[in-house]
Amino acid sequence: MAPLTDIVDLGQLGLKAGGGIRFDAIVPVGEFVFGAQHYELADDPCPATIDVNRTSTGYVIRLRAENSLEGPCMRCYGDFAMPLEIDHSEVHEPHLDEELASEYVAGNDADIAALLRDAIGLALPTSISSPVDENGICTECSNSKQQLAHLADASSEEEQPAPDPRWAKLRELEL
Ligand SMILES: [Zn+2]
Repeated sequence: MAPLTDIVDLGQLGLKAGGGIRFDAIVPVGEFVFGAQHYELADDPCPATIDVNRTSTGYVIRLRAENSLEGPCMRCYGDFAMPLEIDHSEVHEPHLDEELASEYVAGNDADIAALLRDAIGLALPTSISSPVDENGICTECSNSKQQLAHLADASSEEEQPAPDPRWAKLRELEL
C-alpha cells in the first residue's frame, strides 16, 4: 500500500535539473460542502499518481487520480456518485517570476493534499447532478427508477420541478 501523503519535501527527492520521479500515494482530501449538502470521495484518502519534474529553476508537479464524488444529486436530492478524473499540473518557478510561484509550495514543502483537493474542486461542474434523459429525468442517481416509474404511471404530461436556483447561489457563495 502506498504511503499516506500530504506534504512532500521536494528537496528530499534529490532531483537534478531535467530529472523526474513518479510515485503512487494516497492523499487525504476531506469532504466538500456546498450549501448545506455534503459530498465526499468514494475513496478518501484518494489514490493518486504523482510526477515531480525538476526544471532548471523550479518544479512541475503533476497529480493524477480517478475517484468519484458521492452526495445528493442537485436536481432531485437522490444519492449520486459523480465520476472524477483529475489530471492537474502545477508549475512552481519562483525564480523566473513571482507569479509562477505555486501557492502550494512553501520552501521545499509541496502541499500535495491541498493541491489535490483544489484540483478536484476546480474539476467539479456547476451542478453536481445526474445526467438526464430526453424527458429531463435523472438517469444515474438513486431517484432515477422511481422517477421513471412515476413518469410511466402519469397519464398526462406532468411538469417536472425546475432545478432549484438556490443551488447556483449557494455554490457561488461557497466558492
Ligand atoms: Zn437526480
